[in-house]
Amino acid sequence: MAATLLKVRGLKVAYGGIQAVKGIDFEVHEGELVSLIGANGAGKTTTLKAVTGLQPVAMGDIEYLGKPIKGQGAWDLARQGLVMIPEGRGTFTRMTIVENLQMGAYNRDDDEIDADIEKVFGIFPRLKERAEQLAGTMSGGEQQMLAMGRALMARPKVLLLDEPSMGLSPIMVDKIFEVVETIHQQGVTMLLVEQNASRALSLADRGYVMDSGLVTMSGEAKALLHDPRVREAYLGE
Ligand code: ATP
Repeated sequence: MAATLLKVRGLKVAYGGIQAVKGIDFEVHEGELVSLIGANGAGKTTTLKAVTGLQPVAMGDIEYLGKPIKGQGAWDLARQGLVMIPEGRGTFTRMTIVENLQMGAYNRDDDEIDADIEKVFGIFPRLKERAEQLAGTMSGGEQQMLAMGRALMARPKVLLLDEPSMGLSPIMVDKIFEVVETIHQQGVTMLLVEQNASRALSLADRGYVMDSGLVTMSGEAKALLHDPRVREAYLGE
């Protein structure tokens, strides 16, 4: 069985008096694409933020590569390969595409950075065409590609993606999911948060359904995709 890269137990996260995540368990194994789905406000983004050190954990345990990481900062965790692509992309708008990609490799000290930029250009030819363009002048879809490319530059061991398809045109949504699949096939372990439950579960190996801060269902992604409760609540049937 594949190694467990990320293991979360009893995770609770609160914003002041509001409990956004109320005690959840999940794990991600090496090579897997795991999808976290659920309605608006279910606590998906909060879960990703807590795992990556961007939001304090009220209770519970998080293990990454077999070691507890609760309390470690986002910067340290990213250096160790636990990398999040936030909702809304978070590119450096006043830097060029190439500069953004170089920034993504800040945690590395090797001579393969230029070669990896070429690999990213292989996945996203659009970024190559626009290499010297300022990130802030790119379209939403292009910025999502750049955010994904930049994250790959860190050579992540686990990549956490928050709603990569959010706000994009149908063609761009297709492209982004295609790329998620490509990255997965290249062996990158991923935790994918998506509103687009049908697309996410079609690609994923396993899935977790969140509702009001709790995990209400979990299992093989294909089984969830065909589960009448999921179809009714999240696929609009
Ligand atoms: P969405 O798909 O809409 O992004 P989500 O499942 O990612 O939803 P979260 O963003 O994690 O949900 O929000 C979970 C709950 O926590 C919501 O009720 C939200 O209003 C609340 N919340 C999120 N961020 C904050 C914050 N900074 N301060 C107070 N409450 C917050």
